[in-house]
Amino acid sequence: AVKVYDWLAKNAAFRGDHLAMCDLASERRFSYRRANDRAGRVATWLREDFGIGRGDRVGVLAPNTTDVLEIQFACAKLGAVFLPLNWRLTVPELCFIARDAGPKALIHGAEFADSARAVAAEVGIPHLAQTNGDGSDSPYERGIARHLVPTEMVDLDHDDLWTIMYTSGTTGLPKGAMITHGMTFWNTVNLGLPHRITPDAVQLTVLPLFHTGGLNCYTNPVLHAGGTVHVMKAFDPKACLDLLTDRKLGITHFFGVPANYQFMAQQPEFETADLSGVRMAGIGGAPSSLSLLETWDRKGLGLAQGFGMTETSPSVLVLDAADAMTAPGSSGKPVMHNEVRIVDENGEDVAPGEVGELWVRGPNITPGYWNRPEATAETITDGWLHTGDATRMDERGFYYIVDRTKDMYISGGENVYPAEVENVIYQLDGIAEAAVIGLPDDKWGEIGCAVIVLKKGAELTGEAIIAHCRRNLATYKTPKRVEFISELPRNATGKVLKRELRDSIGKADAA
Ligand code: ATP
Ligand code: MG
Repeated sequence: AVKVYDWLAKNAAFRGDHLAMCDLASERRFSYRRANDRAGRVATWLREDFGIGRGDRVGVLAPNTTDVLEIQFACAKLGAVFLPLNWRLTVPELCFIARDAGPKALIHGAEFADSARAVAAEVGIPHLAQTNGDGSDSPYERGIARHLVPTEMVDLDHDDLWTIMYTSGTTGLPKGAMITHGMTFWNTVNLGLPHRITPDAVQLTVLPLFHTGGLNCYTNPVLHAGGTVHVMKAFDPKACLDLLTDRKLGITHFFGVPANYQFMAQQPEFETADLSGVRMAGIGGAPSSLSLLETWDRKGLGLAQGFGMTETSPSVLVLDAADAMTAPGSSGKPVMHNEVRIVDENGEDVAPGEVGELWVRGPNITPGYWNRPEATAETITDGWLHTGDATRMDERGFYYIVDRTKDMYISGGENVYPAEVENVIYQLDGIAEAAVIGLPDDKWGEIGCAVIVLKKGAELTGEAIIAHCRRNLATYKTPKRVEFISELPRNATGKVLKRELRDSIGKADAA
């Protein structure tokens, strides 16, 4: 077994005065020495006041602040399990998760006091404490101030749990993936090396810390390397673009989902923005259209696409930024410490160039879903995790995520992957957002429906969109229907909720 070492304590020893984390909303800045001291005192507080010890779950229901990161490291020091919760969920949804994961304490932001109280009462969480997220007086800050002796890390090994992280809930109810210390460590190697994460890295974190994209791309790898993390409370395209171009802040690393880049590129300031300080801009979590990648490439910032999942902590495939336009649309190649296969429905490897399901094996793979032995057995066979993503490899060894198997639909007996159709639609100028879904149809089995948000003032018609698709795609892939709406439904990470679109359009049809 490989022992776990305390990243914050080590970096406090190496570079105690170096800026570890900065909370942008409250303008609080913490050196590695202070961050480690605070995380150690949070650990003492959790142990002394709430009896938190090894294996106990500590829930966190808070917006993105540096507190959330302190609590993560406090959990590590105690051998406790960090349970970050999605604050966009409703009280019944949170109760479902809290019942599943059974936290002994719940730390919540001031803005979520009511829902935290309701969940704690309903599920019976013994300890509840508030933090205001800005350093002002709260039970959390009082706990830190009162407990002067920071707790040091207990003996742990790579197989010990660090986090239970619920998946994004894009395709159904979120599942609690068990994330070990070892998985998190291997991600720092697998992602940190190709994306050049070093002590001089300065990261801007905008994705929610309760999902793997926010926590592990690149936040945790940067804190492992001894770099600096700037935490933004929530994504706002204009504010985010301003921060990326702020020379005083000096952001070198940024990771976003396609929606982040899409909405930033639609800001008027984008054209003149000077992004030359950014060394690494990673993108993943959902399919990226080629036109989005080209837009950023024209700005001189190649987006390095990568593929990952909560269950794989997350990096599985990474693309070198230099290849962003030599292998356009590719999510890259398998990271250093994991292996992948592309298989057919019988679990046999498909020929190169053929589409199959991506399977992953390695030290970055989850041991399973918390309390879900059946789901675990379905998802992981002989150590191979089945991603549910249709994938293809080209002759140069570049991998392309085609789309989720669950979003594929069959029209006239032919498989259609919506991402391919969306890619073609995004070539049109007036498109702000596009999502293609399959809808039931008497004649074809299913037909494609393009759901479109137009840019302000754009005058594209449904006929024009269909005609453009017909010129660029086989007939069976061409959507037969176009619906215009004002905004696509998205989850907290910014992924399009296609099941909601299928439901709402299907229901409107039935009515
Ligand atoms: P749930 O499993 O709850 O439905 P989710 O799958 O969205 O939600 P995550 O673990 O956050 O939860 O996301 C992993 C998924 O994101 C992958 O399985 C894949 O479908 C998608 N994804 C990640 N990276 C890429 C990429 N580069 N291109 C296309 N899809 C991607
Ligand atoms: Mg998933």
